[in-house]
Amino acid sequence: MSWSKAWKNRQIKFSNQKLAFTLTILGSNASVPAHNRNQTAQLLNMMQVPFLIDCGEGTQLQLKKYKIKAQKIDHIFISHLHGDHYYGLMGLISSLHLYGRKNDLNIYGPPGLKEIITVNLKNSQTHLNYKIHLREWIPGEHELLFENLHMTVHSFPLNHRINCSGFLFREKPKKRRLDKIKMTDSISPLTMIRLKNGEDILDEHGNIKYASKDYTLPPSPSVSYAFCSDTKYDESILSYVQNVNLLYHEATFMNEMADRAADTFHSTAEQAALLAKKAKVKRLLIGHFSTRYKDLAPVLNEARAVYPATELAIEGTEYEEK
Ligand SMILES: [Zn+2]
Repeated sequence: MSWSKAWKNRQIKFSNQKLAFTLTILGSNASVPAHNRNQTAQLLNMMQVPFLIDCGEGTQLQLKKYKIKAQKIDHIFISHLHGDHYYGLMGLISSLHLYGRKNDLNIYGPPGLKEIITVNLKNSQTHLNYKIHLREWIPGEHELLFENLHMTVHSFPLNHRINCSGFLFREKPKKRRLDKIKMTDSISPLTMIRLKNGEDILDEHGNIKYASKDYTLPPSPSVSYAFCSDTKYDESILSYVQNVNLLYHEATFMNEMADRAADTFHSTAEQAALLAKKAKVKRLLIGHFSTRYKDLAPVLNEARAVYPATELAIEGTEYEEK
């Protein structure tokens, strides 16, 4: 696991087998673009599937800047309908069409997003040459939105002024691992696979010859990433993000503006860190910075005082989890 700057010439490796996931920050400023910080957007590549999370204005330019192939993105998650989290979506949808996209696009967003997209396309008389499947998640619910062989994505409720959802990306439980010390030439590759699958191997008399639990070790832990978009501090979030490898949590304000954070349904850096600490996450990433903070060092220091394993969601930063 390491943090690195993804400057020019960096290629997002969609086929990298070694990494469980990578997260590239495409924007992290609140409300308006400022101080060379774009509005919220992130590209998560988990189990070799690229997911776009939120799509602030200018996201398609950010994708180009960091050499991420937009046409390879088949799944877009939108947390809520404040403009700084989705005003880049129509532009991206349009560009994908103009570049000749044929593959279906899956969008998971709040109620109202379908109407917004439909009105835009209708009034511009645009007939997309690809299909959009728009799944509107149910506010306040914890729903399974996406599943493949290796992982799931669930929504979970956040506490914001309008309907707002977090997203939990989680690898499915892995198989048991073979105990190499106990592997001998008499155990065939097929037997090894069956043992890994938890199956006991019987002899010709029906007695257990190899018990799976004796020849295997517990599975290695599954990886997970939780995205907490705009929200006030709310401990009901804890149950959804417990023990995740990486938690992104907004930190719009510093503690000196805790009242304003509460009034606007946002969090402070200290509150984000407190939530990370209580959830026992491995690492915390804070973002959605107020434009009033040009220098983010004090914001980071405030969070680290509570939870040292904290980083800033700086545009171009890439987080890797092996
Ligand atoms: Zn918001």
